[in-house]
Amino acid sequence: MRNKGETPKTMKALVAYDKDRYVFEHEYPAPECGSDDIIIKTEACGICAGDLKCNHGAAMFWGDEVQPSWVKPPFIPGHEFFGHIVEIGENVEGYELGDRIIADQIVPCGKCRFCKDGHYWMCQPHNIFGFQKENNGGMAEYVRYPQTAVISRVPDTMSIEDALLIEPYGCSKHAVDRGNITNEDVVVISGAGTLGLGMVTYSRMKNPKKLIVLDMVDERLEKAKEFGADIVWNPGKVNVVKEIETLTEGYGCDVYIEATGHPSSVIQGLSMIRKLGRFVEFSVFGAPTTVDWSIIGDRKELDILGSHLSPYAFPFIIENIENKKLGTKGVVSRKFKIEEWEKAFEYATGKHGDFKVALVF
Ligand SMILES: [Zn+2]
Ligand SMILES: [Zn+2]
Repeated sequence: MRNKGETPKTMKALVAYDKDRYVFEHEYPAPECGSDDIIIKTEACGICAGDLKCNHGAAMFWGDEVQPSWVKPPFIPGHEFFGHIVEIGENVEGYELGDRIIADQIVPCGKCRFCKDGHYWMCQPHNIFGFQKENNGGMAEYVRYPQTAVISRVPDTMSIEDALLIEPYGCSKHAVDRGNITNEDVVVISGAGTLGLGMVTYSRMKNPKKLIVLDMVDERLEKAKEFGADIVWNPGKVNVVKEIETLTEGYGCDVYIEATGHPSSVIQGLSMIRKLGRFVEFSVFGAPTTVDWSIIGDRKELDILGSHLSPYAFPFIIENIENKKLGTKGVVSRKFKIEEWEKAFEYATGKHGDFKVALVF
């Protein structure tokens, strides 16, 4: 038996050598296909806030005096990618050359206690595409999916823009699921970036009593409305805690989903949530948050629920993007060639009004 298909020897790739040394390479070595691997030719790769933070040298990636470095350079960034199979290892079954596939961002080890009991997204070694040289990411023409990658099929009919939202919306779905929304709940989603919008459109499917979205940028709020929010408020203009109080006869919202990464949104959520409410924390923060911790126990007896990655979410997201139950229109707002990665990273910050920015090949 031999591998099916063939991968070229070199490829275009963005390579992170160090926190301040990201280099576009014309002829970087392409991945080699082991007998248990699959190689895809990348179609597109979304740029995540995590990629930007990493590019800006954040300590959670590169380490500092208190935390060790998690990234392993040189690596190719990007975990929001998909493409067509160009080479299949001899031991791999169930796939053909040309199949269009995507994988969860985490590459589970398959051996730790979390992998063994079905919680693969919390895998202890925690290898994620696009941060370590062993699991190079999608900002390159070719990517290797190792044996334990969690692969889903992408319909050939799905547009590149829609397929780019599979990974972010998968994360949105998991966060919303953590909140256990019912038809009787007043739900507040704080933050209407790409992930927040994914939460809005998926929460709409759950038909809560009221779906309220908060963001400091009015254009984002308009999009949230388009995606099914009942009410949108800008906390920079409206006293949102007061408004929620009025709306709920003084009780507060039932579920608060935090998707901004700003400490003020946490404080705001703890103020507007009702007693016994569910607070879902999704974001990654640039700085520690200080709150009155007694709200959680003594005053409100809250459920504080964390949310990480997108377990078991991709097939559902793919099906419901395809059947239009999930809104996607306009979320991928700009695409760049990989040669223009610097410009792409700049637009991905959102400072020009973008939601999701992607590299295409
Ligand atoms: Zn991401
Ligand atoms: Zn594991």
